[in-house]
Amino acid sequence: MIRFDDVTKTYMRGQHPAVENLDIEFSRGEFVFLVGASGSGKSTLMRMVLKEVAPSRGTVYVAGRDLSRIPSWKVPSLRRDIGMVFQDFRLLPSKTAYQNIEFALAVIGTPRKVVRRLVPEMLEMVGLEDKGKRLPHELSGGEQQRVAIARAYVNRPSILLADEPTGNLDPATAEGILDLLAEINERGTTVVMATHDRAAVDRMRRRVVEMVGGKVVRDEEQGGYETPAPVSVISGNLPDDSAHREEHPLDDDDLVADWDGVPEPIAAEKADGGAEGEEPSVVTVPSADEDSAARRGADERAVTDEPGAAAADARGTAEDRDTDTSSADDVLDEDLIDEREARRVREAERFDSDFDQDEEELR
Ligand code: ADP
Ligand code: MG
Repeated sequence: MIRFDDVTKTYMRGQHPAVENLDIEFSRGEFVFLVGASGSGKSTLMRMVLKEVAPSRGTVYVAGRDLSRIPSWKVPSLRRDIGMVFQDFRLLPSKTAYQNIEFALAVIGTPRKVVRRLVPEMLEMVGLEDKGKRLPHELSGGEQQRVAIARAYVNRPSILLADEPTGNLDPATAEGILDLLAEINERGTTVVMATHDRAAVDRMRRRVVEMVGGKVVRDEEQGGYETPAPVSVISGNLPDDSAHREEHPLDDDDLVADWDGVPEPIAAEKADGGAEGEEPSVVTVPSADEDSAARRGADERAVTDEPGAAAADARGTAEDRDTDTSSADDVLDEDLIDEREARRVREAERFDSDFDQDEEELR
């Protein structure tokens, strides 16, 4: 589903790479925790999956497709199939819970009839069926995050990236959020969650990938938050170089999109295990090459099997309406298409089939 092939990302010349020689694969349907101190490269990894950051070296594949070969005009359709959840929720402050979710459907041209069915369905799924009319500031942090998850999931993305989604929440609330992400994963979406939430990782016992100074130092199938091995400083990796962040302006040419990656509050880092002076241990887990080759094959087959490029024309129309509030409203006014058509349009939106088109065009 997602594969990094010897990927290095250096934001600024001379700077320690944010991600270095990353070779890792996340399979379809997997739930993966990304752990590691602030500055270890978790967000950079996720942003590369979204093609918000381009690797300096190496290749990132999503659903078998090399992201560097996706033309920029197709990036929105890539992102449409990847849900994203942030620590600070990022809801539209002047829109209600209902409207925040609705918006995600409107920008891709979903007919009103479908919107009217899907939004209440999502509100119910996240347990907010009676709070659709609330504005974000009238909701608790946990509730806001539920809305953000509903918004990220309403298009049924095949991948959900969650960057410290419980970072601002109390433990009980965080548990509920995690259960929600687990449910989404059970419904078939690949979930990658960066976290400092020790309790979450230990409770779930899912795959744990630990990063230190841009490198994967641990990859465990059913891991815990804590590294089981003794503490070591062999690598010389910086466990936390986030202090350098201030020295570097965020004006990187390689940034493909304007994403306002919000730095994590330092207090949160300190509170949960990033204790100063505590060196992370370095345990390199060999990747199971045969295994991943087999999975890769499976992924590629799955992509080829996706419903074909037939509906590309529908997609082309929706593409033009991207991310514009007024055109989204226009779209909402189009009430004429029946539900079956709507589903067809939404299927066409899925980037897997777009990529099949890309391939055609490239030949
Ligand atoms: P994490 O999410 O694990 O905290 P990041 O991926 O945000 O780690 O950061 C990894 C490293 O890259 C850090 O040293 C950070 O300062 C640096 N970095 C992140 N984003 C930028 C940027 N836009 N420009 C320059 N350096 C950056
Ligand atoms: Mg981060």
